[in-house]
Amino acid sequence: MEKKTAIYICTGCGIGDALNIEQLSKVATDEGSAPICRNHPNLCSQEGVELIKNDIANEGANTLAIAACSHRVMYDAFNFENCIVDRVNIREQVVWCQKPGDEDTQMMAEDYLRMGMAKVENMELPEPFKPEGEISRDILVVGGGLTGMTAALDATKAGCSVVLVEKEPQLGGFQGNVQKTTSFPYQGVQDNDLEELIQEVTQNEKIKVYTGAKVDKTVGGPGIFEVSISQNGTMAEHRIGAIVLAAGWQPYDPNKLDQKLGFGASPNVITNVMFEESFKEGKITKPSDGKNVTNVAFLQCAGQRDSDHLPYCSSVCCITALKQALTIKAQNPEANVFMVYKEMRTPGQAEDLYCKAQEEGINFIRCQSPEVKANGDGLVVEAEDELLGEAVLMEDLDMVVLATGMVPVTAFGMDITQEEKEKEEEEKKEEEELEIPPDVIRRSELLNLEYRQGPELPALRYDFPDSHFICFPYESRRTGIYAAGCVRRPMGIATAQEDAAGAVMKAIQCIELTSQGAAVHPRAGDLTFPEFAMQRCTQCKRCTVECPFGAINEDEEANPLPQLTRCRRCGVCMGACPERIITFKNYSVQIIGAMIKAIEVPEEDEEKPRILVLVCENDAYAALDMAGINRMKYNAWVRVIPLRCLGSMNLVWIADSLAKGIDGILLLGCKHGDDYQCHFIKGSELADIRLSKVSETLERLVLESERVRFEAISIIDYDRLPGLLDEFAETIDEVGPNPFKDL
Ligand code: SF4
Ligand code: SF4
Repeated sequence: MEKKTAIYICTGCGIGDALNIEQLSKVATDEGSAPICRNHPNLCSQEGVELIKNDIANEGANTLAIAACSHRVMYDAFNFENCIVDRVNIREQVVWCQKPGDEDTQMMAEDYLRMGMAKVENMELPEPFKPEGEISRDILVVGGGLTGMTAALDATKAGCSVVLVEKEPQLGGFQGNVQKTTSFPYQGVQDNDLEELIQEVTQNEKIKVYTGAKVDKTVGGPGIFEVSISQNGTMAEHRIGAIVLAAGWQPYDPNKLDQKLGFGASPNVITNVMFEESFKEGKITKPSDGKNVTNVAFLQCAGQRDSDHLPYCSSVCCITALKQALTIKAQNPEANVFMVYKEMRTPGQAEDLYCKAQEEGINFIRCQSPEVKANGDGLVVEAEDELLGEAVLMEDLDMVVLATGMVPVTAFGMDITQEEKEKEEEEKKEEEELEIPPDVIRRSELLNLEYRQGPELPALRYDFPDSHFICFPYESRRTGIYAAGCVRRPMGIATAQEDAAGAVMKAIQCIELTSQGAAVHPRAGDLTFPEFAMQRCTQCKRCTVECPFGAINEDEEANPLPQLTRCRRCGVCMGACPERIITFKNYSVQIIGAMIKAIEVPEEDEEKPRILVLVCENDAYAALDMAGINRMKYNAWVRVIPLRCLGSMNLVWIADSLAKGIDGILLLGCKHGDDYQCHFIKGSELADIRLSKVSETLERLVLESERVRFEAISIIDYDRLPGLLDEFAETIDEVGPNPFKDL
């Protein structure tokens, strides 16, 4: 498109008082030769927006740089169709964080305007990506338990057709083995009404149910998944828009528990899951002889919240134990029932069930480490009651029930990537690998993904598949595939039903955005996508390896094969590519390079060093805005450039900056490691690794490695940002002028 640039400078919100607007306008008109440059005292007002619209309609303006507030606010007001737009943040990140009327403040604003103009000059209008073939609006649900069936029904209520795949010959999952349940609002114990749900699912014309079946292959991406389902030796094919994985959980293996919990020492020591199985007949009896039970102890947290077993809380065992204890009381009101617990975790209205159990005469004993001993046919539990401060002996027990926890099915079967990583640690691996129960499908075979990164859904710590536990529940690291229910995290009935609805909503959102050619979370609605200038590709594989979402497959010659409906538009591939051949219409190595070049670097004798701050726009940029909103002042030598993700940082920007005379480079990204906060999973970690190579090179050349630094920042760290920027500026000042200038 033929561009006509227009620059708009807002003088409201204190901008006009802090800056020389006439001088700033000259940057646009004299230096930048912008044909249109206008000021307005309140650009986001109806009148201000009309001013811009008028230029678009009557002057042919189509390339706009709007110098005003941060792009994180007023995005609806400054949204102009078919125009290239950049927001130049001279409010939060200039006048609200710098001294008004100061020469350095003016220089900062002028640099930001230059950078914004350079950016729009190099940007192009995005065109949505349309994959070949029709976008499917059908949802595949894997797992026919409570969560899977609820997800399937919820999807049909929203108008989608569903393919439901269950590995067992019947629907129901674990909940199918349960006679009595308790759920919101936890007023007591009820009959399990799962059968009604199963009927609703099987009678729903929009749900195609496959039982005794498994997913044999998943090819493609959101909107265009081609899924093969095998059932009784036959194969069915479906085109699918998005996938909900509700494959459930397995109980922790009680044989691994500490011997002092007594499992295996007597048949009368059972687990909470075994309790449900034996209660199927409608009555709970002593396992060893089938007689009535009159003395029972429940031991909570058996192998849970325990670093040697499951380090986490399975969240439902306390409520389940209360339900089971009340069931015994209902069967025999005279029974002595003891509940030995570390903490009773009964959040919300589940507290009512706890109170009911107390009213029914169940004895609660708080003890961290009870011990079970077999005594002839009976059992004894020794516990140190923390509240009474004395030892308690529970004798002549008919049965002890251990609250063992939930293990997601994705924990079974080593995934391929892991296998590769751990080849060298073969012995250790064998020790650690969980034995796969006979009826469990290996993680890598749950969906059988045909992805370059391997067939499994990647998992987090403790093997739950989730891509960002803080911000994006349900998301996995494979776009268009959402996890729900106990495969995502331990949960009870009510939460699993909510989870099912949440995951289906995400699946529908994904299909809708894919059909518009737009990105899903976290860049929802972004119409750009990575474009590869393949003629210059050297098949180095960096993009295919580093893409956090497995969005780039490879052919036999190692040519990247982008699967663009899987792409989250993070730009990590762009940062990885040494040939710099991956670009987005509004974000590229060239665009950021042009912005860096636009920064004016004063002569050495002016003693005004320049510091480039490459900032993750998801957290760190927001934190910088927060510092401005709180009128916190920081060093005026910094020049901030927001990046989609720090993982999109290409090392050439560091080289270009140093060559231009920029004195220091600071990367502000998200925390990485086990509790990472990076919206694109490993982007900030990759940036840190890339930067460490620059530092190493500088060290090797006996040059100042202090010039480049990575800092992890979260949005709540805004109050430490000014100190951090000031301290880095001091370091750069001490290191002295940049010796790389013009090299
Ligand atoms: S690295 Fe990011 S931008 Fe590149 S293909 Fe993967 S998801 Fe898309
Ligand atoms: S990183 Fe660049 S050069 Fe390497 S394979 Fe990918 S596109 Fe080709």
